[in-house]
Order: sequence, then C-alpha cells, then structure tokens
Amino acid sequence: MIFDGQSFAEKKEIKLKEQVAQLRQRGVVPKLVSILADQSKETELYVSLKAKFAEKVGIVYDVHRFDGSQTAAIIDFIRKANRDPSVTGIMVQLPVANEQEIVQVITPSKDIDCLSGENLGLVMIGRPRFLPATVRAVLEILAYALQETENREITGRWLTGKNICVIGASVIVGKPLAILLSDLGATVTLCRSTTSNLAETVQRADILVSATGVSELVTREMVKPGAMVIDVGISKLLREGKFRVMGDVDRRVLEKTSFFTPVPGGVGPVTVACLFENLLDAILT
Ligand code: NAD
Repeated sequence: MIFDGQSFAEKKEIKLKEQVAQLRQRGVVPKLVSILADQSKETELYVSLKAKFAEKVGIVYDVHRFDGSQTAAIIDFIRKANRDPSVTGIMVQLPVANEQEIVQVITPSKDIDCLSGENLGLVMIGRPRFLPATVRAVLEILAYALQETENREITGRWLTGKNICVIGASVIVGKPLAILLSDLGATVTLCRSTTSNLAETVQRADILVSATGVSELVTREMVKPGAMVIDVGISKLLREGKFRVMGDVDRRVLEKTSFFTPVPGGVGPVTVACLFENLLDAILT
C-alpha cells in the first residue's frame, strides 16, 4: 500500500477550514508568525507551501525575514510577538544560527512547533502540550496504516508488540518520536550516524521510520518482508542531469513492504497540515 499524503492532508484541510471559519465568526483570527533567517531555495519552498496551506484554510501566516547574523533582532522580535495577543503561534524556520538561544525565547503556549525545553519536557513526561508537527504526522500516518492493514484499534498502548526502528535522533523528529512510540507500547531502537549495525537493526523492525536526509540510506535488502516504512527524509540527488527530490529509502523496498510513504507526497503534506492543527489547538484546548 502506497500512502497518499496529499489526499490525507486535504481531509485535514477541509476540517481546519471549517474550524477557522467558526473561530472567525467569534472574532478570533488564528495567526502564525514565522521567522525566516535562511535564504536557501529549500527553506523558501517550505515557507511557500505553508503560506499556500494557510491561505486555503483562512489562517494568517506572517513571515518575517532576517539576516542570519541578526540573533539579537530575532530575539527582540520574538519577545514582542510573545506579548502580542493577536499572535497565536510563533515558529522559527530552521536552520538558524544560534538555534537554541533563539527558540528558547518563544513562550511555550505559542511554541506550536514544540521546540522549547518546556514543551519537549512535557512530551517526555507523557503530557504533551504540542507535538512537533512531523512527529504528529508520523503518529497519525502510523495509526492509519495499522487500521488499514491490520484493522487494529487505535486505543491505549496500540503499538504493543511492535519492533520499531527510528533512524535519525534529532530534537525535532527522532528523539521525541522514539519516546512517544515507546509510550504507546512499542519496543524502539533509535539509530543515528554513529550506529554501527544499522542493517541488522532495520532487518528486525516491523516498522521503520527514517529521518536523516541521507538519500537511499535504506536499501531493499535491509527491510524485513511485510514491514511498514515511513520515510521522513528529504534530500536532492543529481540523476540523469536533473536534481530529484529523494527520501532516505530506496523506492524498490516497495516490493517488500505492507505500507510505504513516498517522497515527495508522503509525510511532507501531512506535516504542514499538522502544524496548523497545532496552531488551532493553541486556541481550542
Ligand atoms: P538533523 O540533521 O537534525 O538530524 C539527522 C539525524 O540523522 C541525526 O540524528 C544523524 O545522526 C542521523 N543520520 C545522519 N546520517 C546518518 C546515517 N548515515 N545513518 C544513520 N543516521 C544518520 O535532521 P532533521 O531535522 O531531523 O531532519 C531529518 C530529515 O527529515 C531531513 O531530510 C529533513 O529535510 C527531513 N524532514 C522532513 C519533514 C517532512 O515533513 N517530510 C519534516 C522535518 C524534517
């Protein structure tokens, strides 16, 4: 089964549009302020995808551009946005220089991307305020995959009995995801660039989530027959004179998997929708 992230995200879009319309009727206008200090084409693309989504559902999405070296100005801007009651959420488009110095200034109730120590700590103790958008997307895709392929009920510790391998141990994806998967009953192995037996670990996994940005790190031979594969990674590779967007997983694993998320068109669109769901949660919960 190949996952269609675009249509999954479109269902979320319809619901969000309705919720935003109801809020606007009450005079509440959800607003996300985004700080951008990286001028790369990739970052501009991510920002434009979010802008398009926000426009479709009626959310105000304000992008503020800074020079990468303007740490003090960015911090000053965030402090003002923290105090501004018209701002629902604040996010920093990564990468940014002095990342931790900057993101820890965001007030946790507006930190819809879950970068602050407080919000990540709440994930650790099993009482999350927000989940990082990509993590929320992966969990929702996994729930959908298990309902579709195993007719599994998504309640309680619904991942009990599953061996899950997560590749990539970043603060924004791999680490919080591994903790949440474990809390849902799974046995989780978290791999990173220093892992020496990656192929063996992947081979044992019923479910593989890869988030490294290393194109085709996972080959067909590494994957267990019947496994579910969620590919979060995004990279660009020059093939036949053209740059192609690639995932971490060689597409030929498809022949062996029970569920597979392609890149592009898999986790990416769902992540954008989840970010805006987090924004509405900041108002509604
Ligand atoms: P990061 O650079 O912060 O972390 C990468 C992780 O991968 C590190 O823990 C590193 O140790 C590990 N890694 C690198 N090479 C490895 C190797 N050869 N073997 C095993 N582990 C290896 O990246 P990030 O912010 O977590 O993002 C990871 C990837 O996911 C990137 O490609 C990014 O573009 C993508 N991403 C996609 C979405 C989406 O919505 N689809 C969202 C966030 C990130």
